[in-house]
Amino acid sequence: MSDCIFCKIAAGEIPSTKRYEDEEIIAFNDLYPQAPVHFLVVPKKHIASAADITPENSAVVSKCFEVIAQLAKKENLSGGFRVITNSGADAGQTVDHLHFHILAGSNLGPKLCPDK
Ligand code: AMP
Ligand code: ZN
Repeated sequence: MSDCIFCKIAAGEIPSTKRYEDEEIIAFNDLYPQAPVHFLVVPKKHIASAADITPENSAVVSKCFEVIAQLAKKENLSGGFRVITNSGADAGQTVDHLHFHILAGSNLGPKLCPDK
């Protein structure tokens, strides 16, 4: 998609601090880290969100999780890590291109959501 920031990063049109790249997937540091380690694993093909995963495009999602496991070993995240994907407005999705946040580097605590 021409106006999608992550499509532009995948195409090399916007700079990023890359942690991994192959023909289908790119991983790069989040611009506004929310943990000591915070990077994004992103399929290069535009999929808007987790709500748009189908039998036709899900192979790359599985591959994203292989890359996540590979990067966790490479980056020595032996203390653990959290994988998050926000889908839609209520979840706070701000970039409408499927991506997985990898958060690590400190004890992230038990809560996934702030208190209401
Ligand atoms: P979400 O809010 O779940 O859609 O996550 C989007 C994430 O993309 C946020 O954590 C942003 O900090 C991050 N982000 C936005 N623009 C960039 C960029 N140019 N490079 C790296 N991360 C970005
Ligand atoms: Zn996109």
